Amino acid sequence: MKQEQTVRAAVECTGIGLHSGAPVHLRIVPAPSGAGIVFRRTDLDDFEVEATGRNIARVSYATSLMKKGVLISTTEHLLSAFIGTGIDNAIVELDNLELPILDGSARPFVEMIQRAGIRKQRRPRSYMRIRRELELREGNKFIAIYPADSYSVSYTIDFPHPLIGKETFRVDLSDGNYLREIAAARTFGFLHEADAMRQQGLIRGASIENAIVLNRDCLMNPPLRYPDEFVRHKVLDLIGDLALVGKQILGNIVADRAGHAMHTALVSRLLRDRTLWEETTLEEAAEVPAALQAMAGQTV
Ligand SMILES: [Zn+2]
Repeated sequence: MKQEQTVRAAVECTGIGLHSGAPVHLRIVPAPSGAGIVFRRTDLDDFEVEATGRNIARVSYATSLMKKGVLISTTEHLLSAFIGTGIDNAIVELDNLELPILDGSARPFVEMIQRAGIRKQRRPRSYMRIRRELELREGNKFIAIYPADSYSVSYTIDFPHPLIGKETFRVDLSDGNYLREIAAARTFGFLHEADAMRQQGLIRGASIENAIVLNRDCLMNPPLRYPDEFVRHKVLDLIGDLALVGKQILGNIVADRAGHAMHTALVSRLLRDRTLWEETTLEEAAEVPAALQAMAGQTV
């Protein structure tokens, strides 16, 4: 039986927000079974915003949550790290509106969680097991989820840039694959779009320290951590956005040129339509042992 998990001790870091450029202090604190992931604004009387689809707000270049006017911005990299390390319950305290970007990947968050340690809790973890496929299309963008006995993602991007072009990455998120294949992939941006984005109040904290920066034909800050780091980062973002369903998923996701808006549209549809999935624990699902045992053994 796979149980819920939280961090063993509090752990913290400081940094700046990618879009706001604002300094922020972040602390991850253990939480009881059933709590889920809850953000807490220590600068606003400890106001709490749960990491669930209900609270999804503005979604453009990052995913933001909002509750009663209180914003928590750029949640995707930390939520991705929680899924990848199997953390179900935690309080995330922050003293500003945006999470720190750190190195632009989920690796610093994974390392923080590993430093804190992971504590098994008594309650069995309940999974969202997909029962029926769901496909969403918007122009040439596509995202879908299909029934499967483990959590896997296949992502395709197509950027008209000589260093990117068309890339597809497929990963089964069991056996520690997240930590090896996804966690370290950094966000990326194009120098020729930077001024326009800054004028929209975006990427005010961006630098070559926290993003892969490309100009028209080359990389400003080599080397890449993986030859296909761009598409791997999209997988990282997708996992973080889908964490807003509030459970680990048993299903296969296929995405083609999707983005935060389509990722979160999928979350909203899943939460609205209970005929698409069922809640299950891994013990109940024991008739498909191989893949699930592998998932059950996934600890850091
Ligand atoms: Zn990202």
